[in-house]
Amino acid sequence: MDGNETITFSRRAAAPSAVGAGDLTDALVATDYWTDQMVADAGIPMIDVPFVTVGGGIGSFVMVDYLRIAGVAPEKIKVLTQLDKPYEAYAHLCRNSQIPGGERLRSDSSACPDNIWGFPAYAIREAVAEKTLKPLWNVFTEPVIKDYYTPRAAAVFRAMDREAARIGWDRYLEKGQVRMVRRRAGGGYFTILTPPQGTTRTKRVAYRSLHAHIAVGYPALRFLPDLQKYRETYNDRTRVVNAYEPHEHVYEELRRRPGVVMVRGAGIVASRILQRLVDDRDHHGAQTLILHLFRTYRDRPYGDRHFGLGKRPARQGWAYQGFNVTKATWGGQHRKKLLTLEGEERKKFINYIGGGAHTPNRVDWKEQLKRGTMQGFYRQAVGVVEDVVPSEDGSSVVSMVRGKDGTVTEFPAKFIIDCTGLEGSPREHRLLADLLGHSGATTNPSGRLDCSQSFEVRGSQSPPGKLYASGAATAGSYYGGVDSFLGLQYVAQRIYEDLAAQGFCKRIGPGRSVSEWMKWMRNTPL
Ligand SMILES: Cc1cc2nc3c(=O)[nH]c(=O)nc-3n(C[C@H](O)[C@H](O)[C@H](O)COP(=O)(O)OP(=O)(O)OC[C@H]3O[C@@H](n4cnc5c(N)ncnc54)[C@H](O)[C@@H]3O)c2cc1C
Repeated sequence: MDGNETITFSRRAAAPSAVGAGDLTDALVATDYWTDQMVADAGIPMIDVPFVTVGGGIGSFVMVDYLRIAGVAPEKIKVLTQLDKPYEAYAHLCRNSQIPGGERLRSDSSACPDNIWGFPAYAIREAVAEKTLKPLWNVFTEPVIKDYYTPRAAAVFRAMDREAARIGWDRYLEKGQVRMVRRRAGGGYFTILTPPQGTTRTKRVAYRSLHAHIAVGYPALRFLPDLQKYRETYNDRTRVVNAYEPHEHVYEELRRRPGVVMVRGAGIVASRILQRLVDDRDHHGAQTLILHLFRTYRDRPYGDRHFGLGKRPARQGWAYQGFNVTKATWGGQHRKKLLTLEGEERKKFINYIGGGAHTPNRVDWKEQLKRGTMQGFYRQAVGVVEDVVPSEDGSSVVSMVRGKDGTVTEFPAKFIIDCTGLEGSPREHRLLADLLGHSGATTNPSGRLDCSQSFEVRGSQSPPGKLYASGAATAGSYYGGVDSFLGLQYVAQRIYEDLAAQGFCKRIGPGRSVSEWMKWMRNTPL
């Protein structure tokens, strides 16, 4: 089959050959392009489906939502995932980083992963549900009189449940972990799924598709190097924790007995963790002393003259920004500019619009920290950590911090909470690393997957098939907010447009858009 022919799909599972045991063979692992015969010889059953999306999180969800609204039949789509609900992995990270359902997120009213039109936005829905004008007043006056409106986590999850039911999310799901995506000789892709043990006769199943889409989120938790070293050297995962991993024991212990906790990082997660620690003092009688260690201490606005006069405000260590990238990145002049930049210049600009640690400027957080500073339960320190070791009696963990004046101070703490982030490098993810090694994918100057403006993974074409990606793995590409609700929708829109241009789905023109929106409003099942 040459690149100009279309692939035909039988929709039937191809019978495994008697030769192989249904697992990957050395030959398959070592070969970049697979033939149907190679897969059959390994005894791996093949299932034909034109479009597969890997991950099953919010990125996969908005992609499928777009395709269904663009008229793709349900049997043409499969979601390969370990999740039941698209927000499961996200909700888990939110809970650990102290954003339970009742707390507000960090995206604006119209960033609605359940609704491609962004209307009615969350502020309107909240106003109607709670019979109050407050959310609307908030949106009209933000960010001058009020802080930015952001929806509650639970409201977003409920809305996604509704849309998932409407598009019949469960029918696309195939459970398991995806091991690799390889190009098929003759066009398209093989996506190898390892289903849960005992659910299939063979260890692997191959999904043979025309197109594939990858939205696998963050590869792993990321620790600061000194904290990683401490955890490995002393095998202590209790006193030094990452904000994104379960660490409720820290708050429980600090409520039982007074103690010092060190917080590292100055982004939104650090804000959340500090809020929880102060809330526990305010409402549960905790006597926690908080030591906040900064490496970069921001106390005056900063920017990059190269890109204009815009500056990010900063005070008392914190840099402030409403969202993870500037407002103009979502649909304004920063989005336009990014489309024109390449290489290092693009990397620098992305750093300008969103790089480094920053947090929303919220009144309640600032009040807590101001009170903490005045009452002495919130203290700040600045410096570079040289080493982290257990105290002699083992009751605490001691950080050796070199200050600006060159002196080293020891800071003992009962716990250290690392709020600095998640691992984004594709090399740390087995599936993405395999793409780099065997499917022609390369990295952009930011070290993530190099993608075109249609979010096709460059170098991985298998004509007439294409491989697309969205989410954190595509940071550094032609859109600044790729790892956000709106970013996932923007990318899904670019991918859908590319697919529509190839005739894979219909165009969502004015007529279709209005009629599909009416269906959304009436909650008509698709
Ligand atoms: C704590 C936190 C708060 C955030 N808050 C906001 C916010 O307020 N507003 C906003 O707009 N954005 C926010 N984001 C950013 C973004 O919206 C989320 O990260 C979103 O979940 C990204 O969706 P995703 O599909 O890329 O990843 P996920 O939702 O994480 O889904 C990826 C899924 O792929 C699975 N997977 C990985 N590898 C494989 C494999 N080999 N086989 C099968 N499955 C696999 C993972 O297990 C995971 O379930 C936040 C992110 C975090 C971490």
